[in-house]
Amino acid sequence: MTSQEVRLQFLNFFKEKNHKIVPSAPMVMKDDPTLMFTNAGMNQFKEFFLGNSIPKSKRVTDTQKCLRVSGKHNDLEEVGKDTYHHTMFEMLGNWSFGDYFKKEAIQWAWELLTEVYKIDKDSLYVSVFEGSDDDNLELDQEAYDLWKAIVPEDRIIMGNKKDNFWEMGDQGPCGPCSEIHVDLRSKEEKAKVPGASLVNQDDPLVVEIWNLVFIQYNRKANGSLEDLPEKHIDTGMGFERLCMVLQNVKSNYDTDVFTPLIREIETITGHKYGKKEETNIAIRVVADHIRAVAFAIADGQLPSNTGAGYVIRRILRRAIRYGFTFLETKQPFIYRLVNVLSERMGKAFPELPKNHQLIENVIKEEENSFLSTLEQGLVLLDSVIASSKSKTIDGEKAFELYDTFGFPIDLTSLILQEKGYQLDVEGFEKALKAQKDRSRAASEVSKDDWTVLQQDAEQEFVGYDTLESNVKLVKYRKVSSKKEGDQYQLVFNLTPFYAEGGGQVGDKGYLEAPNGDVVYIVDTKKENNEIVHFAEDLPKDVSGTFKAVVDKEQRFHTACNHTATHLLHQALREILGTHVEQKGSAVHSKYLRFDFSHFSKMTPVELRDVENFVNARIAGQLPFEENRSIPIKDAMEQGAMALFGEKYGDTVRTVRFGQSIELCGGTHVKNTADIWHFKIVSEGAVAAGIRRIEAITSEAAKEFFFKNNQMLFEIKDVLNTSQDPVKAVVSLQEENASLRKQVEQLLKDKAKGLKNDLIAELKDINGIQFLGKKVDLDAGGIKDLAFEMGGQVTNLFLLLASENDGKAILSCYISKDLASNKGLNAGNIVRELGKHIQGGGGGQPFFATAGGKNPSGIPAALANAEELVRATR
Ligand code: ATP
Ligand code: MG
Repeated sequence: MTSQEVRLQFLNFFKEKNHKIVPSAPMVMKDDPTLMFTNAGMNQFKEFFLGNSIPKSKRVTDTQKCLRVSGKHNDLEEVGKDTYHHTMFEMLGNWSFGDYFKKEAIQWAWELLTEVYKIDKDSLYVSVFEGSDDDNLELDQEAYDLWKAIVPEDRIIMGNKKDNFWEMGDQGPCGPCSEIHVDLRSKEEKAKVPGASLVNQDDPLVVEIWNLVFIQYNRKANGSLEDLPEKHIDTGMGFERLCMVLQNVKSNYDTDVFTPLIREIETITGHKYGKKEETNIAIRVVADHIRAVAFAIADGQLPSNTGAGYVIRRILRRAIRYGFTFLETKQPFIYRLVNVLSERMGKAFPELPKNHQLIENVIKEEENSFLSTLEQGLVLLDSVIASSKSKTIDGEKAFELYDTFGFPIDLTSLILQEKGYQLDVEGFEKALKAQKDRSRAASEVSKDDWTVLQQDAEQEFVGYDTLESNVKLVKYRKVSSKKEGDQYQLVFNLTPFYAEGGGQVGDKGYLEAPNGDVVYIVDTKKENNEIVHFAEDLPKDVSGTFKAVVDKEQRFHTACNHTATHLLHQALREILGTHVEQKGSAVHSKYLRFDFSHFSKMTPVELRDVENFVNARIAGQLPFEENRSIPIKDAMEQGAMALFGEKYGDTVRTVRFGQSIELCGGTHVKNTADIWHFKIVSEGAVAAGIRRIEAITSEAAKEFFFKNNQMLFEIKDVLNTSQDPVKAVVSLQEENASLRKQVEQLLKDKAKGLKNDLIAELKDINGIQFLGKKVDLDAGGIKDLAFEMGGQVTNLFLLLASENDGKAILSCYISKDLASNKGLNAGNIVRELGKHIQGGGGGQPFFATAGGKNPSGIPAALANAEELVRATR
């Protein structure tokens, strides 16, 4: 059965059981501050489990792109070393939101595995939560009894809290679970060691494939559990592992999900899979990581130096590094796998083919730059080795390499080993831990539990229509972090405050209590579909009705920039072409930023055309037309574009200004005329194939023009001219150039005159043409002069001195013939004479210079030189 069929059968099985098939959520999290990446199928449904919103369907099924490389679930270091953990994998799931519970979940899982997929019952084991004293929980008897009805009791295994109590993070919905494991070993091996003893023991052939989680608790900040109002089912089956079982192979990498990638890696690198363990690991690492990185980029997450982008960069670097060391790839090659990947997975995940070119470009550029980092690192490592006094290399030094150059520590220790050195591992670990502690302390956020004042499932956003409304506090909690100090998060029954989203910043404003007390709202963000207001204080009386007021100025300017962003998007597609796609945007009150795919720098003409296009639409006074609830299909038919990496519901909001139509939840001006003017302030590259425009509108544009104008006046004033200032500056530049020429000529003449004067002053001492003299030139001038005199006079011996900024210079020139015939050496001479000026120096036998800090010693040095010449025979 092909992997495509495996996926389809799963979804269809649950469809027949009245589940709605829903798309995978993006892999990169947008509005959940507790998670960077989707790490389980349940993440996108958290709000339903928490009761924050009501699902449209109580039963859904999907395949979810997951990434387990950070936080509570981090498999990165295992990946490649074993055969069944990936960074990015698909999790097949079926869900019940307050609908069916353990009975159906267990029966259907068994039916699907044994009757549809026809997995041999005798190779399956199931586990049940045994209870936990910590949490005061007992054995999950209900699950046990349900399993007992379908499998022999010796195939039911008791699992502890670590394996059989599923939690997404430190806080949130959780519950006991039943895992299903499969034993893929041969008959002989099974006879020798019973499979039950290998469950959850990291045996690569006895692996967990499916986890059925019975969500019934919420883990609170203090670690205690509370019952959720309703019970839910959350199941997750590893798609790649299921394919391994159904395709009768013993490794995920031997399924058709991976073999095409592995063949391609073999072709490119010339290394065969299955020959040598370290090569195998490297090939698996590359085959796995390309998927994670390509999907992340398709979801809009580019590799970068911070946050989620940094995690993606590290995954890619791990692959590059394994390739570099074990597959001997010194040139970028990982980007060449995008083709195969996109061909194989493009059907199920159209974002891959759609972003094909971008993914290739970005990966290639990252590969190039990291390969040169690796090279630099190797050079640095060599110098560390050369300067090391012992055979053990300082851990701090290795940490520096790792931290500033991204040079992987395992590579460092490998190279050291090869050269007969050792790494001070302890020292490295210590330095690493110190750094981690520092950054953790800086980013640590502690959150109290919510204090709930009233149950209210869904909060309403009224801020499209009004900037002021009477609100009631639904719940609040205190959060503390080093960065922000103590803050309070407030949730209201309704709110005019826009929560950060779609690139637009959150609203600021204030809350007024009936007695006139005011609490400032400094930011507004979405979390699990709730609008959370960040306040510096908590209102004294939390029970009353408050007047919530949005900062109108900030909102207005932000709206100007948001509308301008739409017009800019339209302009770029019109002027540069429809290959332009939005890759990110940031809409602030003071400026807007727009990232988009395009392959070359924009020309001044293109930039001007784009500005003109937008300003024409501002002048055109286009009215704001919105449709707050339109089926997504209809919106797309009207020409709106959905962005990859965004999660859309069945119905969406569209915002239209003239021919510009976008799916957008943001706030906008009533009419484009409000924007006044649009001005691009910069255009540049952010990554391969991605450009960034920064622009301003309204007040900021006025300010910009005002400042520029003022500067122009000042320039005219300084130039003291009534003529065109550009002409004036050009004529100044011309004048300046001609003056510079004249000065150069004068200096040349001066040097020539000086040369002639000095030649006239030469003394003949025993056939040597000698001169010792202080001149008014710098070191370079002296050198030029000495060489010119040397070209004209034979048997020349010059000692020229000069004084500059309290420092002395002595330069000695001796004709080459003279130096060799008489055994003279200018280098030795200046070294000796340098003592007079308290300095030192050196050079060649015929020319040398010394510098010193005592100019008053110059006469003595000159006199000494003459004595020396007199003494020469
Ligand atoms: P394991 O103990 O094997 O790491 P897990 O307990 O972390 O698994 P769950 O969190 O229960 O797994 O996830 C549900 C299912 O997702 C697992 O049964 C497994 O099939 C699959 N899975 C989990 N982690 C990975 C991974 N890193 N790569 C591929 N599949 C995975
Ligand atoms: Mg795991």
